Amino acid sequence: MVAMREKIPDILPDRGLFIGGAWRESSAGGRIEVENPSTGEMVCDIADASAADLDEAVSAARAAFDGPWGAVAPADRGRLLMKISSAIAEHHEWLAELEALDVGKPIGEARADARALARYFEFYAGAADKVHGATLPYLPGYSVFTQREPLGVTGHIIPWNYPMQILGRSVVAALTMGNAVVLKPAELASLTSLAVARIAHEAGLPAGALNVVTGSGAGAGHALAAHPGINHVSFTGSLRTGTSVQAAAAAHAVPVTLELGGKSPQILFDDADVDQALPLLVKAAVQNAGQTCSAGSRILVERGLYPLIVARLTERFRALEAGPATADPPLGPLISAKQRARVEAYIELGRCELTLAARGEIAPGAPSGGHYVAPVLFADVPPGHRLAQEEIFGPVVVVIPFDGEREAVQIANGTPYGLVAAVWTRDGGRQLRLAKQLKAGQVFLNDYGAGGGVELPFGGVGRSGHGREKGMAALESFSALKTVVAHHG
Ligand code: NAD
Repeated sequence: MVAMREKIPDILPDRGLFIGGAWRESSAGGRIEVENPSTGEMVCDIADASAADLDEAVSAARAAFDGPWGAVAPADRGRLLMKISSAIAEHHEWLAELEALDVGKPIGEARADARALARYFEFYAGAADKVHGATLPYLPGYSVFTQREPLGVTGHIIPWNYPMQILGRSVVAALTMGNAVVLKPAELASLTSLAVARIAHEAGLPAGALNVVTGSGAGAGHALAAHPGINHVSFTGSLRTGTSVQAAAAAHAVPVTLELGGKSPQILFDDADVDQALPLLVKAAVQNAGQTCSAGSRILVERGLYPLIVARLTERFRALEAGPATADPPLGPLISAKQRARVEAYIELGRCELTLAARGEIAPGAPSGGHYVAPVLFADVPPGHRLAQEEIFGPVVVVIPFDGEREAVQIANGTPYGLVAAVWTRDGGRQLRLAKQLKAGQVFLNDYGAGGGVELPFGGVGRSGHGREKGMAALESFSALKTVVAHHG
């Protein structure tokens, strides 16, 4: 089998910028090296776009929106999206291999991401011609109706942890509404975004409808957020960058959707079904090596069940191993040496101040240049401790005991974030009470979906952001509601 690294020149020959349906080099000639996080080796490079390239991309998107792409009827847009979905499904194996190489994601998780991307195109293909307006009762002699219209050119800045899934939930929804897109993927994980541009173009997406501009955050990312020619910014990433993106867009009164971080609680009451909960508790916490915005990284356990849960989690964490993406381990490496150093600093702090309940392993034979972190479980963690408050974005999980429903809600809601929450209890009344009281964009009852399916609206409250993506709700984010008032007497 030819390794993915050797296939890259065939899949993405120049790895340039994809603007107006064609590949081109960055005008300033800059390149960014691409590292394999499983080995630390450099595998290829990508273009580093300048502000001038962003101007080109926004102009190409505008020309497509005002021209051929804007003229495509909703049903035809849907057919085109379905064609792209089929092409992605057909190519999903190499897309997954490319992602595993670029991001260090275990190949099984990368395959799931590629399938999810195909599913986004499929879901929104079916939705393209089903976005209806309403007729509104008004005064005698009037007819009033509403219609949803595209915004124009939408900018999308996405992170490195789930490139294909986040492209799916934001870019595909924007295209569905007829917007033309400029996408700036993360500099640490751009290869699958470039590959999707190629696949979509080959499937017939008109030139300029989807432009992919790779580059640094401070350069290309800022230039996109601050560009006066865009009509909306969808940003997924850290709180710090998100607020700077919002400020840049505010200079032109451009609306922004912010999908930021989280410190999501998984709450177990004494009556929880432990056997059903345990595998999901662990998966929700360490999936993608904990580099998941909706990771269930705080496990809150009612006092009666607490010793049992800590013991069972300890067993499971000790058995977890971090290894190279191609071996499909429970955890891959972290994305970069910088991210590993950041996570290790949190672990060191925890070791000094907290009770270390368990630590997993790094697989024997894992390449020494890879950015591996063995997963860690801390028990009896005070809810106000930094490890229970801050988003670590690594395989570090805290367990916190509580007494009764009121304290559970208080602890769960006691961070600045509010992305996802899970409640494990057989008490139906308690399920519904907590679903109301928890500060989160999604609440799972006796389950955890780490963001849930393509159909389910997703987004945060508080410092986790604002606006919704996924499901039909995303189509509202990427369109404007127009009210038409006819006075006919
Ligand atoms: P990041 O904020 O550093 O980068 C995200 C994107 O922003 C990248 O494409 C980056 O190049 C770009 N960027 C950086 N500086 C910029 C600037 N000044 N102007 C414009 N763009 C800029 O985030 P990250 O480290 O890539 O991702 C991790 C963070 O993302 C975590 O906090 C995580 O919780 C969050 N995240 C949230 C969600 C969600 O849906 N809520 C999903 C995934 C990740």
